Amino acid sequence: MNDWGRQRLVEALDRRAAAGRPARFWLRDDDAVEPTDALARFLTLTEAFSVPVTLAVIPEETGIALEAYLAGREGVSIALHGWSHRNYAPPSEKKQELGSHRPAALVLAELATGFGKLSALYGEAMLPMLVPPWNRIAPDLLSLLPRIGLRTLSVFGAEKDRGLPELNTHVDVMDWHGTRGGRPADILFGEIAARIESMGDGQAMGLLTHHLVHDGAVDGFLGSLFELTTAHPGCRWQPAGALLTA
Ligand SMILES: [Zn+2]
Repeated sequence: MNDWGRQRLVEALDRRAAAGRPARFWLRDDDAVEPTDALARFLTLTEAFSVPVTLAVIPEETGIALEAYLAGREGVSIALHGWSHRNYAPPSEKKQELGSHRPAALVLAELATGFGKLSALYGEAMLPMLVPPWNRIAPDLLSLLPRIGLRTLSVFGAEKDRGLPELNTHVDVMDWHGTRGGRPADILFGEIAARIESMGDGQAMGLLTHHLVHDGAVDGFLGSLFELTTAHPGCRWQPAGALLTA
């Protein structure tokens, strides 16, 4: 088995350890609504390695079942994942809930309702962070988000100056357009290494997961990533809240 990606990651972490500058990692898992076997399997894995996780929760249909399931767990924080995760873009466009297909005031009102609902359910575990469904949002909406208390954006890809602080994800474990299963572990290790090598001071390496669709390949990858990184002095998994205030 080819393991150049893993090798590159170990070397990147070794360099960080030697420099006394551990690379900061964070984990965002999307689309939680209710407790499921898939969520239990995912959290069993993160908890086994004490890796903190931010769950991007879809507010419209969620309720006390998920809140009760998560209550008392260490290291779980919550972000706002749109309102309904419904697509309003025509078939000719990429899917979007928070695009410019509807009036900004309407979209903002839905987000405010969702943020209020999740804040009431989760209290201190609720982050003032918006994770747009499909990682897309109309640029016009961004400057309006602070009005409803949302102070950080989290999408996929390198952070940009879009007018709102960003804490993004950079490596996605899923192969959405091919097998719809987990991507090859060695490719993922290589992408994580590349992010560590290219990110600036104060930035972090964000891993993106979707517990509802994980297969054995994803579980296997996460297990080996956590095993490698949590024991390495060149890596520090951090809760998103700590990175927002850093
Ligand atoms: Zn989603």
